[in-house]
Amino acid sequence: MPIQLLSPSLVNKIAAGEVIERPASVVKELMENAVDAGATRIDVSVRQGGLEMVRVVDNGGGIPAEELPLALAAHATSKITDADDLFRIGTLGFRGEALASIGEISRLVLRSRTPESPGGAEIEAGGGVLSAVAPCGCPVGTAVEVHNLFFNTPVRRKFLRTSTTEFGHISEAFIRIALAVPQVHFTLRHNDKPIFELAANDGWLERIALCFGRELADNLIWVESIEDEVTLSGYAAHPGQSRSHNRMQYFFLNGRHIRDRALQHALGEAYRGLLMVGRFPIAFLAMKMPPELVDVNVHPTKLEVRFQDSGRLYSQLLGTLRGKFLTTNLNTRIQAAAPSDDDPATGHDVAQATQLRQQLVDWAKGKVASWGAARPSGEAPAAGPTFGTGTAESRVPLELRPLQNPSPLPQAEERPGVRAAESSPNASSPVSARSPSALQIHNRYLVTETDEGVTIIDQHALHERILYEQLRQRVAAGAIETQTLLVPEPVDLGPAERAAALEHRDLLAELGVKVEPFGGQTLLVAAYPAMLANISPVEILRALLERILADVKQPDRRDLLDDLLHTIACKAAIKAGDRLAPAEIASLLEQRHLCDDAHHCPHGRPTALVFTREELDKQFKRV
Ligand code: ADP
Ligand code: MG
Repeated sequence: MPIQLLSPSLVNKIAAGEVIERPASVVKELMENAVDAGATRIDVSVRQGGLEMVRVVDNGGGIPAEELPLALAAHATSKITDADDLFRIGTLGFRGEALASIGEISRLVLRSRTPESPGGAEIEAGGGVLSAVAPCGCPVGTAVEVHNLFFNTPVRRKFLRTSTTEFGHISEAFIRIALAVPQVHFTLRHNDKPIFELAANDGWLERIALCFGRELADNLIWVESIEDEVTLSGYAAHPGQSRSHNRMQYFFLNGRHIRDRALQHALGEAYRGLLMVGRFPIAFLAMKMPPELVDVNVHPTKLEVRFQDSGRLYSQLLGTLRGKFLTTNLNTRIQAAAPSDDDPATGHDVAQATQLRQQLVDWAKGKVASWGAARPSGEAPAAGPTFGTGTAESRVPLELRPLQNPSPLPQAEERPGVRAAESSPNASSPVSARSPSALQIHNRYLVTETDEGVTIIDQHALHERILYEQLRQRVAAGAIETQTLLVPEPVDLGPAERAAALEHRDLLAELGVKVEPFGGQTLLVAAYPAMLANISPVEILRALLERILADVKQPDRRDLLDDLLHTIACKAAIKAGDRLAPAEIASLLEQRHLCDDAHHCPHGRPTALVFTREELDKQFKRV
């Protein structure tokens, strides 16, 4: 094929591919244009996650009627004129690509009126073809309405997700800009329902509260520093507030939201030792610096930028946060927030594993005589194995004691699915009457003798499996018992979470979680599964929503239901680290045989390891 120039339409389509990835990109570009136009109020409205319609209306400076076709032309912009301008960019846009790109791959209507003009004018674009400019009535400012996005680029359309997911991206894009310019009034509606109403604000805190809830806003620490020409200011969340992902780390540079790996890394470093493994800090940080110290023209959507001296910025951020944390009392709340997060997958280390192996070997060698018979529930130190090794010198005389739980752990009966073998033990009855048939070690594993050899069970994984099976059966039979809350519990949610909760209301109800809309970002949990009595309804709802939103592909209803059952089972199950009463151990082992697949937890990790007698014999060179 000979070399030929591409048609402008094809060029625009290619550019559109870079700039407009999904409906949220349209929202971002149109909102940025409105901010650049000096608007003090910007209203965003979308239908079906923006797949059907996106509309952005502003009260900014408008576009003169005669410039309307230019606004829709590629590489046409009012924001820069020469190459030098590229190095002192003060606007969000400057590439002159967005409107042309959107007009190429949708049906777009642009209406605008400048303050000087007695009336408005409109122009339409459909698949890159422009209509004539026609007069129309409209207030000062600009309104852009985009329908049928990607109608002529089927491949792109195919990559789009559910309307919930797309709306999640849209609210994220919306929030990024709304956070960047708190002095502008923003609203967002989805399918005609108001999602956000953010009044103009001087400070950041109120806007953060409206976007992410009061609880987070109340747990933010103000930080600021000035080094030479670089100002850093904003909020870092108390370590008690953290997330399992790093999406709540907002960086703004000269009024533009940016993503920067180095800065994220500095943030992580500043929190080192304050957060559990796998948790990420939350922060809202704004940087201001002369525009010539940064190149914003390195990324088509300008999400990434290049700093002249990123090393200095890194140390400024790290130093500012560390300094602040050193002079702030963080302790009390860290402790309050830490424990619920124990993850059995990451919780144990090599030393522990070695120790465990040694204990097993000891046991197998006969050093530990009998360990199943009488294990008082509360005596062993939390970290040590509960072997009845010695007799005389050991701290627990083999005196039979009533079941009691000295730790703040829930009582046996409260744990869903682990019903104590006998629910109200008589204080004088010997424990050995229903002796646990396994030994709990490290408050994490159960070691039990079987006909073939020895089985080591992961207590969390097994319980999770049992609960999952029980739940699945009950949900299939439509027989999940719910508990109606006397006082419905309010939950502050992010916009995407809230939308997902309402969209999947039926599914949640099927699982026994009943939610109802309340004002603003708040939902009410009215009822939840009775078997989850010891977990807060808010926590369970958040976990379920996180799960729903994590689904990138269009989830099959059954798959999703199954995922949610896993989530509930995982939350409700005893944790690694929970000390079990003998009756609980007995009950766990008993139910183990009831499961269809007791060998794997719902995540697919093994629930048990088996050492056969032959294997042990071989290891000890008996054969
Ligand atoms: P860029 O923002 O990079 O300049 P766009 O394609 O987004 O490119 O917009 C092209 C031009 O149209 C802008 O430079 C601006 O002059 C004008 N424009 C677009 N949207 C608006 C708006 N909401 N209000 C006023 N002018 C606008
Ligand atoms: Mg623009």
